[in-house]
Amino acid sequence: MNITERIDALTEDMIRDLSTLVQYNSELGEEKPGMPFGEGPALALKEALSIAQRMGFETKNLDNYCGYAQIGSGEEIIGIVAHLDIVPAGEGWETDPFCMTRIGDTLYGRGVSDDKGAAVASLYTLKLLEESGILLNKRVRLIFGCNEETGSKCMAHYNEVEEKVTAGFTPDGEFPGIHGEKGMLKMTAYSKNTRILSMNGGFVSNAVCNRCTTQVPADAVNKEKLENALKETGLPEYTVTEENGVLTIYAQGVAAHASTPLLGINAAGCTMKALAQAGMKDDFVEYYNSHIGTACDGEGYGLKIRDDYGELTLNNGIVKTQDGNISCTIDIRVPVTFGEEQLRSMAEPYLEDEKGRTEINAIVGSLFYPEDSPLVTALYNAYVEVTGDTTVKPMVIGGGTYAKSIPGIIAFGCQWLGTDNHIHDANEKLEIAELKKQVEIYIQAVKNLLAM
Ligand SMILES: [Zn+2]
Repeated sequence: MNITERIDALTEDMIRDLSTLVQYNSELGEEKPGMPFGEGPALALKEALSIAQRMGFETKNLDNYCGYAQIGSGEEIIGIVAHLDIVPAGEGWETDPFCMTRIGDTLYGRGVSDDKGAAVASLYTLKLLEESGILLNKRVRLIFGCNEETGSKCMAHYNEVEEKVTAGFTPDGEFPGIHGEKGMLKMTAYSKNTRILSMNGGFVSNAVCNRCTTQVPADAVNKEKLENALKETGLPEYTVTEENGVLTIYAQGVAAHASTPLLGINAAGCTMKALAQAGMKDDFVEYYNSHIGTACDGEGYGLKIRDDYGELTLNNGIVKTQDGNISCTIDIRVPVTFGEEQLRSMAEPYLEDEKGRTEINAIVGSLFYPEDSPLVTALYNAYVEVTGDTTVKPMVIGGGTYAKSIPGIIAFGCQWLGTDNHIHDANEKLEIAELKKQVEIYIQAVKNLLAM
């Protein structure tokens, strides 16, 4: 029997095991003794490990943070890093999200795609590798994380207590592989003196501020000029009202992900720009426009940089006023070849002046393997060998994947570019044909990594 025939023969078993895992509501729960992420993730992990045991694999539970199943022997470890936790089911389902439903050749349920389906595909990858009789002179370890969706503390624990993975992948991204993930610089800008009475808007730091309400003294700015200036910003909607000597500006922008801020229209940024154009003399309006602005290129912090894989982007997500002080969250995505120290020294001179100040809250390093590195080559070749598709190439993205949480790996599948599996959304789905193709690609990927 060749490999595709074996996968065909095992398809119903895969569907059964996936259905078993989908039954667990493994979203982040309340911490309990021995269950750092609550009961759901711990029960899903226990189930996955017992499925692995039944398949005859060596298994280990790492304190319910994560666990692994393993085959082979040798010094080196090829790691496959999947996760069993899920985001909450949410509203709008046409089937029960925790009772996997098959309609035609499609499976529906929370986690069928992200990432329980990938975990099952990886389990059967191990099974078929072992069955194939190929020499396993490295260990092949399938790690099941339990906290990918809410901070990847599972992998922080793994890194602390377990042996390092030599090379591998996480099936929690896209084919044909993500060889670069931008770094992230998180900052907060604060006002010092401002005549702005209040300014509040946005909902998360990693999305473009979609709406914003601002109050300024009516004598600080010319209302007519302000309305004209707002009109020019491109905001889809805005209002300016005056009451008791106070102007209230409501700006409706367009949300977009922080890694692609130019796809949105920043309600706070447009308001600040319009206030300046309408003649408002104010320290923080000046600070905002000179440092944050609406260009999203980081120029105001000395960070207008790019490399062969893309440019730096800057996003203001939330604006908040507390005790008369305004704060603005800043989410910067950094080109993959720039390091932490380099960033700090470039931004340092621009952080504070007499009109405002900015604090660096966190820097998350980038992830980068050159396209011709052994790891990227091994994985990409597996994709090409199985699919015959050479039109898509490994990519660099602005977002971050699970690959950043553990050294030595990149994201490789399990989504196909251009297919929408409704991940993190209602009616999450997976085509059975995709599940089977994943197994085939992952078997080849591990073979290539064994030969690396
Ligand atoms: Zn995921």
